[in-house]
Amino acid sequence: FPCDVIRNFSIIAHIDHGKSTLADRLLELTGTIQKKTSGNNQQVLDKLKVERERGITGLEYSFVGLYFWLMKCATQTVKAQTASMVHTVDGKSHLLNLIDTPGHVDFAWEVSRSLAACQGALLLVDATQGVQAQSISVFHVAKERGLEIIPVLNKIDLPASQPERIAAQMQSTFGIDPSNILQISAKTGKGVEAVLQAIIERIPPPKGVTDKPLKAFLFDSLYDRYRGVISLINVQDGILRKGDKITSCHTRKRYEVTEVGIMHPEEVHTGTLQPGQVGFIACNMKESSEAHIGDTLHRTGEPVDSMPGFQPTKAMVYAGIFPVDSNDFIKLEESIKRLTLTDRSVTIQRESSTALGQGCRLGFLGTLHMDVFRQRLEDEYDANIIITAPTVPYKVIYRDRTVMISNPTEFPDVTDPASKVKEVQEPIVKASIIHTYPTEHLGEMMDLCFSHRAEDLDHRYLDSGTALSSRAILTCTLPLSEIVTDFFDQLKGRSSGFASFDYEDAGYRASNLAKMVFLLNGKPVDALALIVHRSAQQNIGRIWVKKLHKVIPRQLFEVPIQAAVGKKIIARENLSALRADVTAGLYGGHYERKMKHLENQKEGKRRMKKFGTVELPQEAFFDILGSK
Ligand code: GDP
Ligand code: MG
Repeated sequence: FPCDVIRNFSIIAHIDHGKSTLADRLLELTGTIQKKTSGNNQQVLDKLKVERERGITGLEYSFVGLYFWLMKCATQTVKAQTASMVHTVDGKSHLLNLIDTPGHVDFAWEVSRSLAACQGALLLVDATQGVQAQSISVFHVAKERGLEIIPVLNKIDLPASQPERIAAQMQSTFGIDPSNILQISAKTGKGVEAVLQAIIERIPPPKGVTDKPLKAFLFDSLYDRYRGVISLINVQDGILRKGDKITSCHTRKRYEVTEVGIMHPEEVHTGTLQPGQVGFIACNMKESSEAHIGDTLHRTGEPVDSMPGFQPTKAMVYAGIFPVDSNDFIKLEESIKRLTLTDRSVTIQRESSTALGQGCRLGFLGTLHMDVFRQRLEDEYDANIIITAPTVPYKVIYRDRTVMISNPTEFPDVTDPASKVKEVQEPIVKASIIHTYPTEHLGEMMDLCFSHRAEDLDHRYLDSGTALSSRAILTCTLPLSEIVTDFFDQLKGRSSGFASFDYEDAGYRASNLAKMVFLLNGKPVDALALIVHRSAQQNIGRIWVKKLHKVIPRQLFEVPIQAAVGKKIIARENLSALRADVTAGLYGGHYERKMKHLENQKEGKRRMKKFGTVELPQEAFFDILGSK
């Protein structure tokens, strides 16, 4: 395949707007996969249970385009997140490479790197739903990368579709000429042929040169337990052949290419990859950490300039993970290590806590990433785990240095002048919420934002005019920590599905933060420490103290439960003493059930932790940290 018949593209869409369905139709129309005859409409690219479960929950703001990333993590073998197909028009064969892209902000980095291998993108919008938050954020990334955008309205078979109105919306939001918008039904296949045509006509071919030195861009990698690391690459110049000796620009390590091929959508060994082509290689890389996303590969001895502008992934949400039974630490750590073999974006450190014993502190790209990892860990490691409250990375600035802190126990006491802290900064994001207008919703959304310390609030309409059901976008900056804790849940609760949400990194901002610790009978419990904004400390202190009061088992004496910031106690509850004749109802009902279960499982072996004179079973933390 010479360069001029190759097209590299991706589909960008909000969840449920039909990306997987369209991908299936494209693969069928090009004969890459067989058309399904039965009623089984399970999508080829969606092979994961967890994604399908998430996909149908309708939590549109949070689970977009997840399959790309999940496929990589869970399948452990090369599966088609990238699929190549051949399409022939007027006797001329074209090689179309569909490169999958996650739509969620947690994976902004993946979006950016997979789009770097494309020259164009299909912007797919549901004609019954209209433009949503993720459609906009991913559109901007694609636009910045200079990709040719083909706008496509999907689901026009539905009676509720409003193609003209949504087309006008796309015009006002993206500056797209409505006459360029294709109208299709990915379900029935109507108009999909025209999509293939548009891909060939509108998207420019990659500009590779065959007789230049080899230059290949590594945009993703997978881990196969038999073959080691499989890298997905886009050959920019030169020809890559099986047997080639290659070098990584980033690590200077050398490899020999043992397998070369394309995903069709299963692996097809081709032995070579031409300029412009997208495919996989195996090259005796043993560990995922050797495959640096965004790395440039060249033939050993023929150096090339590496591709600029790629930063490594950075973790934005951290949490400690501990086994409920501390004897299980080794087993837990093994499970975590096994999972991170296939997902390098998770960072791991050992952590030990006086309250919870030995555990691991993990860093994630975002809350969705954390949720998914937790779910996979729970599936893989069949015992209860305790996860501490998530924390974002803070910058603590001293006169002569800046320290990044992502574990509350390491946070200095800023209320004490002796700590010499000049300033504390926290990560902030630019958030956008798209909602229907006008309704009482706008006021509610604004309240929600302000109660989460929003600044720079702005609001504008997506539709021209202010018809009753038109849509509007609200933007503001929010501290990332607010989103990590409960902004998502509250938005979901209050909006009951009419709003969609997205956010992007907006740097750091100085903030009035402090560490809150909780004391049992005067002794601090490290695993419960939190970093809070001073304006909310009273509230948060009270809520947590109440929560602790509810779940901590009564002792033989009275136990004060206190929240403190610095030396100041800001909330307190007393846990009254246990009377000798009380044998039942010591704990909340939920707790009791859990104890029974655990007792059966572990023959009543209960581990007590001592905090001064207070004894707590490890399981109590499960309840404290697990309840919202
Ligand atoms: P994704 O989340 O973007 O991958 O969306 P899916 O491809 O999973 O589609 C979401 C839902 O919309 C599924 O139930 C599809 O069957 C349905 N769907 C997709 N395209 C169409 C279409 O053109 N018409 C209709 N009526 N339904 C569609
Ligand atoms: Mg899908």
